[in-house]
Amino acid sequence: MNFKFFAARRLLVPGVLITLLFSPAAMAEWFKLERDVMGTRITVEVWAADSGKARQCSMAVLKEMHRIDAVMSPFREDSEIALLNREAAKHPVKVGSELFRLIQRANEVARLSAGAFDITFASIGYKYDFRRKIKPAAEEIAQRLAAVDYHLIKMNAANHTLQFAREGVRIDLGGIAKGYAVDNGIKILKKCGIKNGLVTAGGDSRILGDRHGRPWMMGIRHPRQKNGVAVLLPLSDTAISTSGDYERYFIEKGVRYHHIINPQTGRPVATTWSVSVIGPDATTTDALSTAFFVLGAKKALQLAERLKGIDAVIIDARGQTHYSSGLMPPAARNRAAAH
Ligand code: ADP
Ligand code: MG
Repeated sequence: MNFKFFAARRLLVPGVLITLLFSPAAMAEWFKLERDVMGTRITVEVWAADSGKARQCSMAVLKEMHRIDAVMSPFREDSEIALLNREAAKHPVKVGSELFRLIQRANEVARLSAGAFDITFASIGYKYDFRRKIKPAAEEIAQRLAAVDYHLIKMNAANHTLQFAREGVRIDLGGIAKGYAVDNGIKILKKCGIKNGLVTAGGDSRILGDRHGRPWMMGIRHPRQKNGVAVLLPLSDTAISTSGDYERYFIEKGVRYHHIINPQTGRPVATTWSVSVIGPDATTTDALSTAFFVLGAKKALQLAERLKGIDAVIIDARGQTHYSSGLMPPAARNRAAAH
């Protein structure tokens, strides 16, 4: 349960390699499955005595990832999200309770972060294509910005309908859906009777139990050094999500255009390189890592301190690393408090 225990005692070892500790033991063994689902690397690792069961449980997790993608991908014309984006500005659209609840959750994080996390970023966001190096012109951003505001999503909890209060509103759950998928993956492993395992989807991971009596060593990638690790965290029974400006981006005239958009400006956030959030579930850490990225180190850490069970490692655009107080050794914590 307690990652802070490890974090406080064994602290933040600056690392060279992403190494996930291995401890082979008799009888049971680690079983690992890796697949790409819609451009995202999915990893499922379980500790099990029975390899048949391990494979079956891991495949069930993978199947769940595909199911969620079919509901929530904005790129699939038949997804509920695509339906909302086509129709909800014209009339109320009914969606399944799962999607309804996740949108509610997204909007809770929007309120919590004063709109830094906002799924209507997509009203402009869909005009960026990082692979093809396409970005909207300044006039287009100015014109579409009025459709970026989560208050424009009108939700009716009685019949699970949604309506957008104006033309041009689009939503995208890219900042929360992977975390949600990881949480569901962990639920499946638990139901399967697995006691120790790991589910990762892109930058979102959740650890069930530990790595055979030891914590998992989770590496936070260095945002500017290829294959470099900025921080290593020993973690167990917790979730960790990382948002970075180095995954999907292109550079034009010295400006980095990447996939985390400031809802106030409609442009990629320039003040942060990377944010990792540690917390009890991956839905929360996924959304918060995006929110913190937009807020910037100072405001993000203030919010992290207010939230129970949440810690963060933030690398700002000067390359400086900031830690929330739960990750600091006591001496550093006292120094920070004295400031
Ligand atoms: P990933 O794991 O895909 O790197 P992140 O957790 O870093 O995702 O979130 C980035 C994704 O969140 C973007 O690809 C986009 O879909 C979505 N997003 C971008 N800006 C915002 C924002 N301000 N609020 C909510 N979601 C956002
Ligand atoms: Mg995120």
